[in-house]
Amino acid sequence: GYRSRAAYKLKQLDDLENVISGGDTVVDLGAAPGGWLQVAAEKVGPQGSVIGVDLQRIKDLEDEDLAARVETIRGDMTQERTRERVVEAAGGTAGSDTDEESAARDGGPVDAVVSDMAPNVSGEYSLDQARSLHLARQAFETALELLDSGGDFVVKVFDGPDVDAFRADLEEEFKYVRATSPDASRKESSEIYLIGKGRITAPLAKGD
Ligand code: SAM
Repeated sequence: GYRSRAAYKLKQLDDLENVISGGDTVVDLGAAPGGWLQVAAEKVGPQGSVIGVDLQRIKDLEDEDLAARVETIRGDMTQERTRERVVEAAGGTAGSDTDEESAARDGGPVDAVVSDMAPNVSGEYSLDQARSLHLARQAFETALELLDSGGDFVVKVFDGPDVDAFRADLEEEFKYVRATSPDASRKESSEIYLIGKGRITAPLAKGD
C-alpha cells in the first residue's frame, strides 16, 4: 500500500497531464513520508530514477525493485547547500545529457520536478500561505536549474492573491500552465497544484 493519501493526488495529476513516463529522471521535493516517491518509482520503471528530498528522513521503500530506483536526500530546500546536493544527485543519474555541452544545449538532466512541499501550518492563513508560496518559488528555482527542455513541473501552493503572479512567472518558462485541485485534496480546499508543461529552454547564443 501507499504511505500517504497524497499518493493518489500524484496519480490524479499525472492522469491529467502525464508528467512522468518510463525511463524518466524525476525530482520529488517534500517527499516524506514517501507516497509520491512510491508512485513516481512505479511510473519511471526500471530504467528511470527518482530523487526524493525532505526535511524529514525518508524511510527506504519496502519494495526492493522500487527502492533501487530511488535516492533520498535529507535537507532544507530553502538552503542553497541542499539545492546543490540535489543538482549533484541529478547530474549523477542523468539519462540523456552526459557532457556539459549537451546539458547546456538541451537543458538539465531531469524530466520532471514535482513538489508537494508545505509549511507546518500555524493556523494564521496569510502567514501559512506566504510560507507555502516561498517553498513553491524555491521549487520553481530548482526546476529551472534542473529541467531538461520539454520537462514538466508540478508544484503545490496554498491559494492566495500572489499565486496569479507566480503562475504568470511559470507561464514564461513552460509551453502552458494548468491549475488544478485533485479530488484527493478537496478537503484541504486551499491547496492548488500548478502544472507547468514543457519547459522552454532558449537556444545557445552565438559564441557560447
Ligand atoms: N508528497 C508526500 C507524500 O506523498 O508522502 C507528502 C508531503 S507533505 C504534504 C509535505 C512535506 O514537505 C513534509 O514532509 C515537509 O517536511 C516537507 N517540507 C516542508 N518544508 C520543506 C523544506 N524547506 N525543505 C524540504 N522539505 C520540506
